[in-house]
Amino acid sequence: MNSSEKAFTAVNDRIRAAAATHGGAVRLVAVSKTQPAAAVRALAALGQRAFGENYVQEALAKQAELADLALEWHLIGPLQSNKCREVAAHFDWLQTLDREKLVGLLDRWRPADRPPLNVLIQVNIDDETSKSGCAPAAVAGLAATIAAAPRLRLRGLMAIPAPLPERERRRAAFARMAGLFEELRRAHPGIDTLSMGMSEDFDLAIAEGATMVRVGSALFGARPVA
Ligand SMILES: *Cc1c(COP(=O)(O)O)cnc(C)c1O
Repeated sequence: MNSSEKAFTAVNDRIRAAAATHGGAVRLVAVSKTQPAAAVRALAALGQRAFGENYVQEALAKQAELADLALEWHLIGPLQSNKCREVAAHFDWLQTLDREKLVGLLDRWRPADRPPLNVLIQVNIDDETSKSGCAPAAVAGLAATIAAAPRLRLRGLMAIPAPLPERERRRAAFARMAGLFEELRRAHPGIDTLSMGMSEDFDLAIAEGATMVRVGSALFGARPVA
Protein backbone atom coordinates (compact mmCIF):
# COMPACT_ATOMS: atom_id res chain seq x y z
CA MET A 1 0.00 0.00 0.00
CA ASN A 2 1.28 3.50 -0.78
CA SER A 3 0.78 6.35 1.67
CA SER A 4 -2.49 7.68 0.24
CA GLU A 5 -3.92 4.18 0.26
CA LYS A 6 -2.84 3.75 3.89
CA ALA A 7 -4.39 7.05 4.90
CA PHE A 8 -7.63 6.24 3.07
CA THR A 9 -7.87 2.84 4.74
CA ALA A 10 -7.08 4.29 8.17
CA VAL A 11 -9.76 6.99 7.87
CA ASN A 12 -12.36 4.50 6.69
CA ASP A 13 -11.44 2.16 9.56
CA ARG A 14 -11.85 4.99 12.08
CA ILE A 15 -15.23 5.89 10.55
CA ARG A 16 -16.40 2.28 10.67
CA ALA A 17 -15.28 1.84 14.28
CA ALA A 18 -17.06 5.01 15.39
CA ALA A 19 -20.18 4.23 13.35
CA ALA A 20 -20.38 0.71 14.83
CA THR A 21 -21.01 2.16 18.28
CA HIS A 22 -23.59 4.56 16.91
CA GLY A 23 -25.50 2.33 14.52
CA GLY A 24 -25.99 4.28 11.31
CA ALA A 25 -24.07 4.63 8.08
CA VAL A 26 -21.62 7.54 7.81
CA ARG A 27 -20.51 9.09 4.54
CA LEU A 28 -17.01 10.42 3.96
CA VAL A 29 -16.52 13.67 2.04
CA ALA A 30 -12.85 14.02 1.11
CA VAL A 31 -11.86 17.68 1.46
CA SER A 32 -9.58 18.40 -1.48
CA LYS A 33 -9.06 22.16 -1.12
CA THR A 34 -5.52 23.19 -2.11
CA GLN A 35 -4.86 19.65 -3.42
CA PRO A 36 -4.10 19.18 -7.12
CA ALA A 37 -6.51 17.32 -9.40
CA ALA A 38 -4.03 14.42 -9.47
CA ALA A 39 -4.54 13.86 -5.73
CA VAL A 40 -8.32 13.74 -6.25
CA ARG A 41 -7.86 11.29 -9.10
CA ALA A 42 -5.67 9.04 -6.93
CA LEU A 43 -8.31 8.91 -4.19
CA ALA A 44 -11.09 8.35 -6.72
CA ALA A 45 -9.13 5.34 -8.00
CA LEU A 46 -9.39 3.89 -4.47
CA GLY A 47 -13.16 4.25 -4.56
CA GLN A 48 -13.79 7.69 -3.04
CA ARG A 49 -16.60 9.53 -4.80
CA ALA A 50 -17.57 12.63 -2.76
CA PHE A 51 -15.17 15.57 -2.65
CA GLY A 52 -15.48 18.88 -0.80
CA GLU A 53 -14.08 22.19 -2.00
CA ASN A 54 -14.02 25.60 -0.30
CA TYR A 55 -13.38 27.95 -3.21
CA VAL A 56 -15.59 27.99 -6.29
CA GLN A 57 -12.94 28.94 -8.86
CA GLU A 58 -10.49 26.32 -7.59
CA ALA A 59 -13.24 23.69 -7.66
CA LEU A 60 -14.33 24.52 -11.23
CA ALA A 61 -10.76 24.17 -12.51
CA LYS A 62 -10.41 20.75 -10.84
CA GLN A 63 -13.82 19.60 -12.07
CA ALA A 64 -12.77 20.44 -15.63
CA GLU A 65 -9.60 18.38 -15.28
CA LEU A 66 -11.56 15.46 -13.81
CA ALA A 67 -14.58 15.58 -16.10
CA ASP A 68 -13.99 11.97 -17.16
CA LEU A 69 -14.77 10.76 -13.59
CA ALA A 70 -18.25 10.47 -12.07
CA LEU A 71 -17.58 12.40 -8.86
CA GLU A 72 -19.91 14.11 -6.41
CA TRP A 73 -18.89 17.70 -5.60
CA HIS A 74 -19.74 19.47 -2.34
CA LEU A 75 -19.22 23.17 -1.73
CA ILE A 76 -18.16 23.47 1.92
CA GLY A 77 -16.85 27.05 1.88
CA PRO A 78 -18.83 30.28 2.27
CA LEU A 79 -21.08 31.20 -0.64
CA GLN A 80 -21.42 34.73 -2.01
CA SER A 81 -24.50 35.70 -3.98
CA ASN A 82 -22.44 36.45 -7.12
CA LYS A 83 -21.36 32.79 -7.17
CA CYS A 84 -24.83 31.24 -6.91
CA ARG A 85 -25.17 30.64 -10.62
CA GLU A 86 -21.88 28.71 -10.90
CA VAL A 87 -22.55 26.74 -7.75
CA ALA A 88 -26.04 25.77 -8.90
CA ALA A 89 -24.65 24.64 -12.23
CA HIS A 90 -21.54 22.76 -11.09
CA PHE A 91 -22.06 21.25 -7.64
CA ASP A 92 -24.13 18.33 -6.36
CA TRP A 93 -24.29 19.54 -2.77
CA LEU A 94 -24.12 22.92 -1.10
CA GLN A 95 -23.29 22.50 2.59
CA THR A 96 -23.12 26.17 3.57
CA LEU A 97 -26.50 27.74 2.88
CA ASP A 98 -27.01 30.22 5.71
CA ARG A 99 -29.34 32.96 4.52
CA GLU A 100 -32.71 33.35 2.84
CA LYS A 101 -31.41 35.67 0.15
CA LEU A 102 -29.46 32.88 -1.58
CA VAL A 103 -32.36 30.43 -1.83
CA GLY A 104 -34.17 32.13 -4.71
CA LEU A 105 -30.95 32.63 -6.66
CA LEU A 106 -29.90 28.98 -6.36
CA ASP A 107 -33.40 27.79 -7.20
CA ARG A 108 -33.50 29.97 -10.30
CA TRP A 109 -30.07 28.90 -11.56
CA ARG A 110 -30.20 25.16 -10.94
CA PRO A 111 -30.18 23.71 -14.50
CA ALA A 112 -33.38 21.93 -15.50
CA ASP A 113 -31.48 18.87 -16.71
CA ARG A 114 -29.92 18.19 -13.30
CA PRO A 115 -31.58 16.79 -10.19
CA PRO A 116 -32.40 19.32 -7.45
CA LEU A 117 -29.34 20.71 -5.66
CA ASN A 118 -28.80 18.96 -2.30
CA VAL A 119 -28.63 21.58 0.43
CA LEU A 120 -27.44 21.64 4.03
CA ILE A 121 -28.07 24.60 6.29
CA GLN A 122 -24.86 25.74 7.96
CA VAL A 123 -25.46 26.50 11.63
CA ASN A 124 -23.27 28.81 13.68
CA ILE A 125 -23.37 26.51 16.68
CA ASP A 126 -20.90 28.07 19.08
CA ASP A 127 -18.68 30.60 17.38
CA GLU A 128 -20.28 33.99 17.68
CA THR A 129 -17.29 35.70 16.09
CA SER A 130 -17.72 33.78 12.82
CA LYS A 131 -19.73 35.39 10.07
CA SER A 132 -20.71 32.05 8.54
CA GLY A 133 -23.72 30.01 9.53
CA CYS A 134 -27.20 30.95 10.62
CA ALA A 135 -28.24 31.22 14.25
CA PRO A 136 -29.87 28.07 15.67
CA ALA A 137 -33.10 30.03 16.14
CA ALA A 138 -33.19 30.85 12.41
CA VAL A 139 -32.91 27.26 11.18
CA ALA A 140 -36.64 26.45 11.09
CA GLY A 141 -37.51 29.50 8.96
CA LEU A 142 -34.68 28.98 6.52
CA ALA A 143 -35.55 25.28 6.22
CA ALA A 144 -39.14 26.14 5.31
CA THR A 145 -37.93 28.48 2.56
CA ILE A 146 -35.58 25.84 1.13
CA ALA A 147 -38.24 23.14 1.29
CA ALA A 148 -40.53 25.36 -0.80
CA ALA A 149 -37.93 25.80 -3.57
CA PRO A 150 -38.57 23.16 -6.24
CA ARG A 151 -35.00 23.05 -7.56
CA LEU A 152 -33.44 22.56 -4.11
CA ARG A 153 -33.60 19.52 -1.85
CA LEU A 154 -33.17 20.08 1.86
CA ARG A 155 -30.99 17.26 3.23
CA GLY A 156 -30.08 18.50 6.71
CA LEU A 157 -27.56 20.50 8.70
CA MET A 158 -23.83 21.25 8.72
CA ALA A 159 -21.60 22.85 11.35
CA ILE A 160 -17.98 23.77 11.97
CA PRO A 161 -17.75 24.04 15.77
CA ALA A 162 -15.06 26.30 17.18
CA PRO A 163 -11.79 24.31 17.31
CA LEU A 164 -11.69 24.20 21.10
CA PRO A 165 -8.87 22.17 22.60
CA GLU A 166 -11.20 20.66 25.20
CA ARG A 167 -12.81 17.58 23.75
CA GLU A 168 -15.78 17.83 26.11
CA ARG A 169 -16.74 21.28 24.86
CA ARG A 170 -16.49 20.15 21.24
CA ARG A 171 -18.59 17.18 22.11
CA ALA A 172 -21.21 19.48 23.63
CA ALA A 173 -21.39 21.47 20.37
CA PHE A 174 -21.86 18.26 18.35
CA ALA A 175 -24.58 17.16 20.77
CA ARG A 176 -26.40 20.49 20.39
CA MET A 177 -26.28 20.01 16.60
CA ALA A 178 -27.77 16.54 16.96
CA GLY A 179 -30.59 18.04 19.02
CA LEU A 180 -31.28 20.68 16.36
CA PHE A 181 -31.22 17.99 13.69
CA GLU A 182 -33.81 15.83 15.48
CA GLU A 183 -36.00 18.88 16.00
CA LEU A 184 -35.78 19.80 12.31
CA ARG A 185 -36.57 16.24 11.30
CA ARG A 186 -39.94 16.46 13.03
CA ALA A 187 -40.94 19.21 10.56
CA HIS A 188 -39.02 17.73 7.59
CA PRO A 189 -39.05 13.92 7.91
CA GLY A 190 -37.12 13.52 4.64
CA ILE A 191 -33.86 15.01 5.90
CA ASP A 192 -31.07 12.49 6.40
CA THR A 193 -27.75 14.31 6.73
CA LEU A 194 -25.89 15.82 9.66
CA SER A 195 -22.47 16.95 8.41
CA MET A 196 -19.95 17.53 11.20
CA GLY A 197 -16.48 16.39 12.18
CA MET A 198 -13.10 16.95 10.52
CA SER A 199 -9.70 15.18 10.71
CA GLU A 200 -9.17 16.03 14.38
CA ASP A 201 -12.55 15.11 15.75
CA PHE A 202 -14.69 13.08 13.37
CA ASP A 203 -14.81 10.10 15.77
CA LEU A 204 -16.35 12.37 18.38
CA ALA A 205 -18.82 13.84 15.86
CA ILE A 206 -19.94 10.38 14.77
CA ALA A 207 -20.42 9.34 18.40
CA GLU A 208 -22.80 12.30 18.73
CA GLY A 209 -24.75 11.47 15.57
CA ALA A 210 -22.92 12.79 12.49
CA THR A 211 -23.99 11.00 9.30
CA MET A 212 -21.40 12.76 7.11
CA VAL A 213 -17.83 13.76 7.96
CA ARG A 214 -15.56 16.15 6.05
CA VAL A 215 -11.95 15.01 6.17
CA GLY A 216 -8.97 16.71 4.53
CA SER A 217 -5.55 16.50 6.15
CA ALA A 218 -6.01 12.97 7.54
CA LEU A 219 -6.43 11.81 3.92
CA PHE A 220 -4.13 14.08 1.95
CA GLY A 221 -1.56 15.11 4.57
CA ALA A 222 -1.13 18.61 5.99
CA ARG A 223 -2.08 21.47 3.68
CA PRO A 224 0.63 23.99 2.79
CA VAL A 225 0.13 27.08 4.96
CA ALA A 226 -1.22 29.85 2.77
C1 LIG B 1 -10.82 22.37 5.47
C2 LIG B 1 -12.17 21.94 5.93
C3 LIG B 1 -12.41 20.63 6.39
C4 LIG B 1 -11.32 19.58 6.52
O1 LIG B 1 -10.42 19.92 7.53
P1 LIG B 1 -9.26 18.87 7.99
O2 LIG B 1 -8.91 19.35 9.33
O3 LIG B 1 -8.17 19.03 6.99
O4 LIG B 1 -9.85 17.53 7.96
C5 LIG B 1 -13.70 20.30 6.74
N1 LIG B 1 -14.71 21.17 6.67
C6 LIG B 1 -14.52 22.43 6.24
C7 LIG B 1 -15.68 23.36 6.18
C8 LIG B 1 -13.25 22.86 5.88
O5 LIG B 1 -13.08 24.13 5.48
